[in-house]
Amino acid sequence: MNILVATAEVTPFAKVGGLADMAGALPKAWAEDGHNVVVILPLYGTIDTEKFGIVKTDMLVDVPFGTWTEYAEVWHGTLPGTTIPVYFLRSSDYYDRPGIYGYHEGFEDNDRRFIFLSRAIFEVARALDFRPDVVHAHDYHTAPCMPMLKVHYHNDEFFRHTAGVFTIHNMAYQGMYDPQRAMEFCGFPASEFYTGSWYEQDGIFNAMKAGILFADKITTVSPTYAQEIRWTPEGMGLQGALQSRGADLIGVLNGIDAGTWSPLHDEHIAVPYDASSLKKKDINKKALLKEVGISASEMKRDLPVVGMVTRLTEQKGVSILAACIESFVANDRFRLVILGSGEAKYEDLLKNLAYRYPDHVRVGTGYNEPLSHMIQAGSDFYLMPSKFEPCGLTQMFALAYGTVPIVRSVGGLADTVQDYDPITFTGTGIRFHRYTGEALQQALETALRLYKREPHWSHMRRNAMAQDNSIVTTARRYVEVFGWAQEARR
Ligand code: ADP
Repeated sequence: MNILVATAEVTPFAKVGGLADMAGALPKAWAEDGHNVVVILPLYGTIDTEKFGIVKTDMLVDVPFGTWTEYAEVWHGTLPGTTIPVYFLRSSDYYDRPGIYGYHEGFEDNDRRFIFLSRAIFEVARALDFRPDVVHAHDYHTAPCMPMLKVHYHNDEFFRHTAGVFTIHNMAYQGMYDPQRAMEFCGFPASEFYTGSWYEQDGIFNAMKAGILFADKITTVSPTYAQEIRWTPEGMGLQGALQSRGADLIGVLNGIDAGTWSPLHDEHIAVPYDASSLKKKDINKKALLKEVGISASEMKRDLPVVGMVTRLTEQKGVSILAACIESFVANDRFRLVILGSGEAKYEDLLKNLAYRYPDHVRVGTGYNEPLSHMIQAGSDFYLMPSKFEPCGLTQMFALAYGTVPIVRSVGGLADTVQDYDPITFTGTGIRFHRYTGEALQQALETALRLYKREPHWSHMRRNAMAQDNSIVTTARRYVEVFGWAQEARR
């Protein structure tokens, strides 16, 4: 199958969250199964072209945009360690600046930047003579690919067999744009925008809604989230659109790339280990504590370490953590190591806690890939108290590293972590339900009761490591969905 991936993030070139991980890992798994994959991504100013061997080609694509034509240089690279082509769009107007989305509110012209990307991917495919069987668009950034496929390319001989699949990684970001600008940039008649039209939500252009309604099939990143977004406020106002496509909406659980996330082959951690050598996790724990600045004398006291690697936003549950953490650290119950960046108020809150309890709370800010691996390997527990969680990848990394996850039972967290049952010795972690500091506090108490308590501790860690969350399973499921999309191509 010829798969054209249109995305705003791909690891390791440009990453903000799990979208990048998936857009980087799925193509590898597809290619290993014999599919032809082309990935298209903007050449952001922050991408290190030299490091990744990204070079300019002599292709300059004409991109129809509104009633005019714009141009983008096409640069070429490969996904590291593979021959899978990644084509980067270089445009000094749109991408040649620091950052992917811009801080806080985002760049003012994000509508234009991502609508341009959505349109350009078709013209790059044509210039490459790559006839896609499926265009796979991710999140609101490239959602406009779905209506464009139907409106501009449906009768185009080159795209005669192309189906559109739209994957939702997070309903919280929908691409809400000024309708006049967005319709014009997309090349759609202004008259197609009206109350109740497929582009309109609450009076403005909604890229996510158009993606949902025009796609041949829609997927989201876990089966539970697929239900939640249809029937609960997690649909963030688009429940109606999602219900109308209910039969075409499929939850495909994310998976993890064992090439990058395996404790036996991880170049960032102090010592490799697997389920039969879990003792070595203690060495990784010491290495982590040293890395984050815990003194040697302090380290002699064995306290559980709870790790977190996360964007610091309301979604990730920082406020319920703040509501209950102090009594634990003040009473010497565990150490908390957080790596996170995001909203200033949460960064300040955590830094303040670290300032007051330096032996118990360590906070890393900024983006730090090696430290994120060390936290997975060196922590005893991994905490994810999310308010909502489409899938979540870091709890899956934790499972693979034998780090017991403590999660709120929502979205993909409910699909990937099973409560440990001390009677049957089954389960992989600790779950809680209500979004309150109290519920989290109880879950942490349960965790502390189980810490190093045999035989439960060994069972829990081994069960976690035995769980298969491989990207290979995920990638095959997508191919099945692509097949359905082709059948459904209207
Ligand atoms: P989301 O996509 O909602 O941010 P996920 O759990 O799906 O959450 O994916 C987050 C990804 O980003 C993981 O690969 C995680 O390790 C990584 N990550 C998040 N914050 C940081 C950080 N500060 N430094 C390094 N990696 C980070």
